[in-house]
Amino acid sequence: MAVAGSLIDKTDEQQAITDMVRQFADEQILPNAEHYDAEDEFPEPIVEQMKELGLFGVTIPEEYGGMGLDLTTYAMIVEELSRGWISISGIVNTHFIGSYLLMKFGSDGQKQKYLPQMATGELRAAFSLSEPEVGSDVQSLKATAKKTDDGDYELNGQKMWVTNGLMSGIVFVLVKTDPDAEPRHRGMTCFIAEKEAGVSENTGEHAGFSVPPKIRKLGYKGVESTELVFDGYRCPAENVLGGEDAGLGKGFAQMMDALEVGRVNVAARGVGIAQRSLELALRYSQERKAFGKPIAEHQAIQFKLADMATQVEAARLMTMRAARLKDAGERSDLEAGMAKLFASEAGCMCVEQSFRIHGGYGYSKEYEIERLYRDAPLLLIGEGTSEIQRMVIGKKLLQRHKI
Ligand SMILES: Cc1cc2nc3c(=O)[nH]c(=O)nc-3n(C[C@H](O)[C@H](O)[C@H](O)COP(=O)(O)OP(=O)(O)OC[C@H]3O[C@@H](n4cnc5c(N)ncnc54)[C@H](O)[C@@H]3O)c2cc1C
Repeated sequence: MAVAGSLIDKTDEQQAITDMVRQFADEQILPNAEHYDAEDEFPEPIVEQMKELGLFGVTIPEEYGGMGLDLTTYAMIVEELSRGWISISGIVNTHFIGSYLLMKFGSDGQKQKYLPQMATGELRAAFSLSEPEVGSDVQSLKATAKKTDDGDYELNGQKMWVTNGLMSGIVFVLVKTDPDAEPRHRGMTCFIAEKEAGVSENTGEHAGFSVPPKIRKLGYKGVESTELVFDGYRCPAENVLGGEDAGLGKGFAQMMDALEVGRVNVAARGVGIAQRSLELALRYSQERKAFGKPIAEHQAIQFKLADMATQVEAARLMTMRAARLKDAGERSDLEAGMAKLFASEAGCMCVEQSFRIHGGYGYSKEYEIERLYRDAPLLLIGEGTSEIQRMVIGKKLLQRHKI
């Protein structure tokens, strides 16, 4: 079935790459998502194909083996992957945030060391701010890193909700290096913590870094979300993001910068899942008959379709605008917050409307909308909840319009 059209202009390159990813989603992700979701199993064969397609290196510069594409094109790709299954975009997204952190703040040595392996997907990244007692209020985090006599840093503490926590080989982790710093954010540093991918109890040079069993979740299955436990884990000073001289005490600012692009990321996921729920509703409403005609001919159903399509288009336009501003080097904090807020709420709204259109069958595992219904709420939480987005938007609005 043809999908609903879009108002977004694409360059020939963007059209070619999004066509390729859409075909990949149609042929490889959508037919297999139900299996991996039901088993909560890491979709290794899909990830292997994504490596071959170069999807882990989309934004990494060509000199490091990536495609060197911009955030706008990346957002288009994320939309297509999420239309297939948001767990697949989750495997790429924290990796993307890690590569963004390295490209923007990493030292030359760090870029040389990690980016080529990240571009191929051989080395994948995770991004860790949250802790068991801390999510929105990042400055209250408790994990620490203390310099030892031999010049390394010793990390201690517990992290929570780390997407790709097990399968990643490096984790960009924010910890306190100066617990007495005022303001508190000046005492936080981002470390590039290395570990063995897929191993829960690290030994040898990575001893003291363990990954407890994955958290059991409502949706967003297949991609693991884990705690991380640092217990005397040694991290060399050269693994401070940007190097010790440039990066010590800068972690909070670095992570907040990365969250801004992360918000465009999540917004694109919202567009993808909203788009898919619209496609499912368009199809089902023309197949299902009630009161002697396809339900699509009942005006109440058409109104739902109309609202959904309008939300999808608006969410996509806002997401693209935020991405394009960022690519143009313009301020995009307000726009990224708005896009994340609108597109994640639109994703949930469209999934719910599509679920309603499916009637009782929407509640059955036989229909794809059941998975989308469990997956969509994550959008309201990750990269800052809707409440936090409203706080960001309000603050930025007042800054821009100060009288
Ligand atoms: C599946 C999944 C994957 C995740 N992946 C990652 C990851 O890879 N890396 C990572 O670091 N984190 C990750 N997270 C964590 C996520 O970023 C946090 O859950 C999120 O930031 C919210 O934090 P919290 O859960 O502690 O909620 P809290 O901060 O405890 O908030 C609880 C409620 O209070 C509201 N609230 C909080 N403060 C205010 C306020 N000032 N005003 C109004 N309302 C407020 C919130 O909006 C929310 O409704 C993930 C979470 C999930 C569920």
